[in-house]
Amino acid sequence: MSASTYPEAATVQAAEGVFIDNRWEPATGRGTVDVVAPAEGRVFARIAAGGKPDVDRAVKAARHAVEEGHWGRLSALERGRLLMKLGQAIADHAEELALLEARDTGKPMKQARADMVAAARYFEFYGSAADKVHGETIPFLPGYLVATERERFGVTGHIIPWNYPAQMFGRTLGPALAMGNATVLKPAEDACLTSLRIAELAAGVGMPEGAINIVPGLGGEAGAALAEHPGIDFIAFTGSPEVGVFIQTAAARNHIGCVLELGGKSPQIVFGDADLDVAVPVLVNAIVQNAGQTCSAGSRLLIEQSAYDLVMERVIERFARLRAGTPEMDLDLGPVINAKQKKRVEGFFSRAEADGVPLLAMGQVAEGAPADGFFVAPRIYGPVPRGNRLAVDEVFGPVLSAIPFEDEADAVRLANDTDYGLVAGVWSGNGARATRVARKVQAGQVFVNAYGAGGGIELPFGGMKKSGHGREKGFEALYEFAALKTIVIKHD
Ligand code: NAP
Ligand code: MG
Repeated sequence: MSASTYPEAATVQAAEGVFIDNRWEPATGRGTVDVVAPAEGRVFARIAAGGKPDVDRAVKAARHAVEEGHWGRLSALERGRLLMKLGQAIADHAEELALLEARDTGKPMKQARADMVAAARYFEFYGSAADKVHGETIPFLPGYLVATERERFGVTGHIIPWNYPAQMFGRTLGPALAMGNATVLKPAEDACLTSLRIAELAAGVGMPEGAINIVPGLGGEAGAALAEHPGIDFIAFTGSPEVGVFIQTAAARNHIGCVLELGGKSPQIVFGDADLDVAVPVLVNAIVQNAGQTCSAGSRLLIEQSAYDLVMERVIERFARLRAGTPEMDLDLGPVINAKQKKRVEGFFSRAEADGVPLLAMGQVAEGAPADGFFVAPRIYGPVPRGNRLAVDEVFGPVLSAIPFEDEADAVRLANDTDYGLVAGVWSGNGARATRVARKVQAGQVFVNAYGAGGGIELPFGGMKKSGHGREKGFEALYEFAALKTIVIKHD
């Protein structure tokens, strides 16, 4: 595949503006933002730089859609059918979207294709769930009937990152729309083309005007304007803890709720009795997938001391064979998202080396990968001293930190020894021990003898501690995007 087979037309259309009421409108913000292909290190498209007036118009359009427009009058069944049609449209356009996503993010084509399957599945899952969200009746005093219902908020704001743009689009908008909210989304400036294209597909399948509005642009402008907008009733944010603080503060000022998904430093805990044939490929993939730019990346490899050498031998052997390349080379990983991220990741490497942390293995950047691309050869360091920045900070790059532990209690202590608490993996042939550890680890999701970085639409997902709060994915996300109302009726 040559670069010219990428769908240029779709990317050019994106430059036209902001997507409000199912139409492209010129942005009133300052000019455009260049869109860079990370595997090439060059600009290949432009997007509008949406500003506060664009966010205003988008929020108004959403408000109108939910209170007076066609969207607000649809039954749950009808909303669900539209979402399922959107899922089908994404599936029908999967190759086009995967090419666009791959060029925008640099990820290997196989990952971009898998992402489109997941993006479609979000709309299928939430579309089919829309009419299955029930309230309850509650026994109360004689002469009363008490019922609960889950009521849409109204207008929901959504801010997503650049690492899995199409998946994030489905993950955040799917449940919000299923519950009947009208939405305004600010995608990440570094990768937002699939969001813009999927919004067009939504209009194409008959999504009513104002249900999905997209304001691309810079975080500090379009993003901040959305987070602070007094016209939104709830905000969902996925991104860094720093910006998460800003979002939660803005939400507090407007007295609205928020769901925050903010990174992690997820441990993979390997006991000596683990089945290494199963574990090792998963352990390596969990950090290499998406060049380590996955919030749930398994970035800390905690190994029982007695098995450390054996496990490391197998992991190192695999790591040394890893190769980074362009989307069309379709290797183990692509580049990181931009020059700044590459510098940041390499800064972690220099600091680790200055601290004397041993570099155990390094993959390669494939021959033929453009010199201007933001490639980083994957690395494994170990044993990383506890408390070293490589052991506790989120790098968001292809680097695995190996750390030995003494026993079960030490494993739990070490696993919980970061500010984060998103996902964890426990690998052991002893079911009782794996269960005990799974229950003691502070994480929103724990896998036993498996690991699913990014997978599992059905599985409630979210953080503890600095990883955020609230839950996305699964049925829980539907509850997140609605307010519970209790209706008390006295009939005698
Ligand atoms: P980020 O800087 O926080 O950006 C995330 C989103 O927020 C982008 O759309 C960004 O827009 C926007 N934004 C930036 N500044 C803003 C502001 N002042 N007001 C409102 N919006 C603003 O994070 P990132 O560097 O792109 O993404 C990496 C981080 O996200 C990592 O920490 C990672 O772990 C986390 N993450 C978490 C999850 C999860 O589910 N827990 C998933 C993926 C990523 P611009 O990009 O246009 O500036
Ligand atoms: Mg890009």
